[in-house]
Amino acid sequence: MDAKAFVDEYLGRNTDALNDVIDALFWYGEPAMQEVRSAALLTKILEDGGFTVERGISGFPTGFMATFGSGGPVVAVHAEYDGAPDNSQLPGVSEHKAIIPGAPGHCEGHNVNAAVMVAAARAVSRAMRDHGIKGTLKIFGAPAEELVLARPYYVRDGYFDDVDVAFHPHLLERFSTEYGVLQRAVVSAEFVFHGETAHAAMSPWKGRNALDAALLMDSGMAQYREHLSPGMNMHRVVTDGGNQPNVIPARAAIWWFFRDHTAEGAKGLFERARKVAEGAALMTNTELEVVVKTAVWPVRGNEALAHALQRNIETVGMPAWSNAEHDLANRLQAANGAIEEGLRTAVDTLDGPSESIPAANDCGDVSWKVPMGRLWFPANVPGVTFHHWSAGAALATSIAHKGGLVGARALAATLVDCFTDPAIIADAKATFADETKGTDYAPMIPDTNTPPLDTNRQLMEKFRPSMEARYVEPRHWFE
Ligand SMILES: [Zn+2]
Repeated sequence: MDAKAFVDEYLGRNTDALNDVIDALFWYGEPAMQEVRSAALLTKILEDGGFTVERGISGFPTGFMATFGSGGPVVAVHAEYDGAPDNSQLPGVSEHKAIIPGAPGHCEGHNVNAAVMVAAARAVSRAMRDHGIKGTLKIFGAPAEELVLARPYYVRDGYFDDVDVAFHPHLLERFSTEYGVLQRAVVSAEFVFHGETAHAAMSPWKGRNALDAALLMDSGMAQYREHLSPGMNMHRVVTDGGNQPNVIPARAAIWWFFRDHTAEGAKGLFERARKVAEGAALMTNTELEVVVKTAVWPVRGNEALAHALQRNIETVGMPAWSNAEHDLANRLQAANGAIEEGLRTAVDTLDGPSESIPAANDCGDVSWKVPMGRLWFPANVPGVTFHHWSAGAALATSIAHKGGLVGARALAATLVDCFTDPAIIADAKATFADETKGTDYAPMIPDTNTPPLDTNRQLMEKFRPSMEARYVEPRHWFE
């Protein structure tokens, strides 16, 4: 049996272990920066398989790098495993039913992404050992994708310096890959205004109102919207608006995302917002503090790696869905006002470069540092809405299990191809040089930035005890 047949057979033998990881991560339901239990499970699985694990990389307590093998080529896989706030949803039902009302959870499917990554990693590392395949496999756990956080830090800190090619598996409703610029750049920054409190009725003339500054910044940005170029967009939430009406707020804050097709454009929009904020501070005699939370490049897919993935996607093919699975999909589509079309039954073709979608992913920086392949695998239902209960209901069901398995098979096969066929990495590097010609990549994330460790901490302190009572732990392990 050759190495590709071996990884396929290995994954077929280990589906119970894969399914258990998909389910466990789902029930853990940990949001960005709080993926403690998830990271512990993923690193245990990799260590059990002989990987050397470095935890807490770039200052992310729930981030890790796991390494197997030595020497070149160096092939990396990275994936996320965070859920999102207020996304608690019972799996297998076609109505909005929270596991724990108000708790975080998985309503997109990052639980499946990370499970697919470690399953493929275990299969390929075993093939490397048993088939004498040379090279290094690096597995990156990337926390807080929902806040597009970790990977720019990893790239900035040199973790991808020796990587030849990288892959990012992510679920969707379809089985496909793509190339070109796939997603937008984003700068995430909080603008904090500092003033002075005073009694709002007795002595307002003594106060300096930070909320006024925040509102004036918002007004200035609303005027600026007219001047955005096509593809740019921005959105915000007020994260601090004061405490009670009779105390003039000494602190107010707005958190913004600025997006564009290019890193330069997103950065330019952020610099424009900084000027508006400075103006607001000047008008209100307050002080401005700008906190850049993260800044990521657009996601780019490499053409040669897309072709390598596509060949394996076509070989593996779609899962054979049961009537019950199509039926759950139809009921979810009906409940979400979408066309009742069941599950996809054919893989997508690869016809040319993609149009970018308006969302971002923090793997953007990786994709400008090294050639990157993006694998979409079919573990959710067409017509559901991410971050809405409808996209949580099929996770931790046989739809996610079967879609995860075909994703792991295509990913593992492509990793084996990269290790055993030097032409693939050579092609990837040659096309990457063309694709990135004229662009000097440098991380947008400032050198001094450190991860925001308190993110979602209070949320998990509130909900973890009730969520823990419902946790489903793995019962099967990769052999
Ligand atoms: Zn995602």
